[in-house]
Amino acid sequence: MSNRTFTMIKPDAVKNGHIGNILQMINAAGFRIIAMKYTRISLEQAGKFYEVHSARPFYGELTEFMSSGPIVAAILEKDNAVADFRTLIGATNPAEAAEGTVRKLYATSIGENAVHGSDSDENAKIEGDFFFNGLERF
Ligand code: GDP
Repeated sequence: MSNRTFTMIKPDAVKNGHIGNILQMINAAGFRIIAMKYTRISLEQAGKFYEVHSARPFYGELTEFMSSGPIVAAILEKDNAVADFRTLIGATNPAEAAEGTVRKLYATSIGENAVHGSDSDENAKIEGDFFFNGLERF
């Protein structure tokens, strides 16, 4: 069990003005911010980040959406970080997300679902390394 996960506040949530509310929920749930940046990824970078999904029918839509505007990327620390963060954000589809979760509150559809959260310790490391170098972590 690792104590770190990686998240992005996705372009829909940024555009809709939810950065502050989502960061508040992350802090209130006991996560410590190790690294954070406000940035925008290209279509090519989005393709690389989501390469594991390249065979899925929604891959084009997903990569276009994720490169459509700025995001907030962050590495978060807490005991049981990966699983606890996925509990905090809720199911991929906001229609199925539990009450009080980030996606229930702020996602608009299964594609534009407000936040990303790593699905394993291994991917948390790969994804954090995609965005941050050693000097950007505290
Ligand atoms: P997650 O781990 O909960 O983010 O879900 P997945 O790993 O299954 O999917 C990755 C991301 O792809 C999701 O967060 C959505 O943004 C997007 N996605 C998943 N399923 C669909 C879908 O059916 N349609 C579209 N447009 N996007 C999807």
